[in-house]
Amino acid sequence: MVRIENLTKRYGKSVAVNEISLTIKAGEILVLLGGSGSGKTTTLKMINRLIDPTSGRIFLDGADVTAVEPHQLRRRIGYVFQQVGLFPHMTVAENVAITPSLLGWDKDRTHKRVNELLELVELDPTIMRNRNPSELSGGQQQRVGVARALAAKPNVMLLDEPFGALDPLTRSRLQDSFVRICRRTGVTSVFVSHDIVEALVLGDRIGVMENGRLIQVGTPRELMCHPVNDYVQQLISTPQRQASIVDALLKRET
Ligand code: ADP
Ligand code: MG
Repeated sequence: MVRIENLTKRYGKSVAVNEISLTIKAGEILVLLGGSGSGKTTTLKMINRLIDPTSGRIFLDGADVTAVEPHQLRRRIGYVFQQVGLFPHMTVAENVAITPSLLGWDKDRTHKRVNELLELVELDPTIMRNRNPSELSGGQQQRVGVARALAAKPNVMLLDEPFGALDPLTRSRLQDSFVRICRRTGVTSVFVSHDIVEALVLGDRIGVMENGRLIQVGTPRELMCHPVNDYVQQLISTPQRQASIVDALLKRET
């Protein structure tokens, strides 16, 4: 569904993303995992051309999108920001309807789609449609962010640490609904996280980034059993993390 070839981003002499190659299969959740500054956000933003690559190519469904108009591309790819980014002066329904409006959908079709999406993210449309973002909890706002990203039925969704600012319980609930939504819609997702437990809960595969490089890609089990170097080894075996990692693995295998 998404194929990245030798993707690189340089800022002057420093390299933010270094020769990344990666294929993301249709319907898969690929988690890009790495510490702060490892190049996760830059990689994600190059996929929908919020940032232009220095070199390398990106294919979407087989077609090279390096040449596609960025704003057209962005309508085909859902994006969920780290800081939610709902428009404060617009209602929940208006926020979710942004891309359908840009695409010129009629009122009726948009109205139905908004209701369907709010139900998908487990928000009651009759209660939530006309609220302002300030009248929602953090978790509810992030659910609206996910609904908005899915509005125009994109094949691909990009998420940049979307649940990072939430309390652990809300976060865990949203992770569960996210997996359910992905399975139901069949959307292909690239999900950025710095949290190994989140990566293990969500990822069909995990791509580990360090200093702009993709150092290992594999299923959670492959990473656990065959870490490619000390960095990956440490990432998954820090003692205080063991319990929650085992929990996460058990949860997805039951
Ligand atoms: P992450 O999302 O993994 O925390 P980023 O992709 O945001 O990392 O950043 C990767 C590296 O690129 C960092 O070292 C960051 O300082 C650098 N970087 C990001 N954006 C810019 C920019 N606009 N100009 C210069 N350097 C940047
Ligand atoms: Mg980032």
